[in-house]
Amino acid sequence: MPKATETLLEINLNALDNNYQYITSKLKKETKVLAVVKAYGYGSDSVAVARELVDLGIDYFAVAYTGEGETLRNASIETPILVLHPLPVNFDAIVDRCLEPSIYSRKMLEEFITYTEKKQQNNYPIHLKFNTGLNRLGFDESDISFIAETLSKTKSVKVKSAFSHLAASEDLKLKEFTLGQIKAFRKISEELSAKIGYKPLLHCANTSGIINYPEAHFDMVRTGIGLYGFGNDPEVNKHLKPISTLKTVISQIHTIQKDESVGYNRGFIAEKTTLSATLPIGHADGIPRSYGKGKGWVTINGKKAHILGNVCMDMIMVDVTEINCEEGDEAIVFGPAAMADELAAAINSISYELITAISQRVKRVVCRK
Ligand SMILES: *Cc1c(COP(=O)(O)O)cnc(C)c1O
Repeated sequence: MPKATETLLEINLNALDNNYQYITSKLKKETKVLAVVKAYGYGSDSVAVARELVDLGIDYFAVAYTGEGETLRNASIETPILVLHPLPVNFDAIVDRCLEPSIYSRKMLEEFITYTEKKQQNNYPIHLKFNTGLNRLGFDESDISFIAETLSKTKSVKVKSAFSHLAASEDLKLKEFTLGQIKAFRKISEELSAKIGYKPLLHCANTSGIINYPEAHFDMVRTGIGLYGFGNDPEVNKHLKPISTLKTVISQIHTIQKDESVGYNRGFIAEKTTLSATLPIGHADGIPRSYGKGKGWVTINGKKAHILGNVCMDMIMVDVTEINCEEGDEAIVFGPAAMADELAAAINSISYELITAISQRVKRVVCRK
């Protein structure tokens, strides 16, 4: 790629290939892989990422919301798509676009069956979500008899998979809790299969679950953050490559004299002559205001340039006093050489939050390198 001349999010498909190969190297050959491409592919470009994963042989996709699944269907992605958090208002779009709902409550199960019967569906694929400790979405173990009885009265739906979600797979201090979740899921799935009379696909591991809990791989794994290049662990990160680089450019450089200030509300006051570079990226692009006053930085010509004063909606100003640079030079917010998880940690955040927050105003450029 030539140097950036405006704010860009560069998405490197070769890095995605690398991450897919690393994650699948942790699996048995027969284990299926579901790629989580919610939230625009964790802030990248869900269509470009999904197309590449189709070429790599992905088995399944998951999105959080129905509209995200529609986006993939509009791009002619034909792979099965699990919608993790559908709502009854989405049933039309789900069935219309062959999306597969996660069914997480008695009410949802009954309403979806009523809907599919009305639409004369047969064996419409559904995925049963069980709560094993995250306490977010999902049936309880005690719902299994109700589920089995409800399913026995209809031919309109078929359970394609049963799944659960780990609350702390990246945190080995909570290993006992996670092992308890895995055990509970195993018990639930056995009881479910016995009561409904067939074996759906089972899955419960996210990226850190894949790495830390081989016993939790079951029939399929769900990987999100790992595909995008983060493993929630420095050792794992060595094998992964961030797929996205957020770049911008120096619009203007100002010399700030002692006692002059920079930005709104005089957020920075110079104690000595300071060189300030203005960059065309701000909180509306996904740089949180909490990065202001030196907490956040960009990398210019290999050196960290910290944010001066407050983050504006469309701009930040950074300290380039000690950096040899000029207007038009590139600035890297995050990328393989400026890890997003390190920048996220500076405001007690995590890679997930920083990368998914990059707004749609930022142009996406897909490349291979
Ligand atoms: C987002 C999500 C995932 C992906 O988790 P990663 O930690 O990004 O791998 C998997 N399963 C569910 C239910 C999710 O909501």
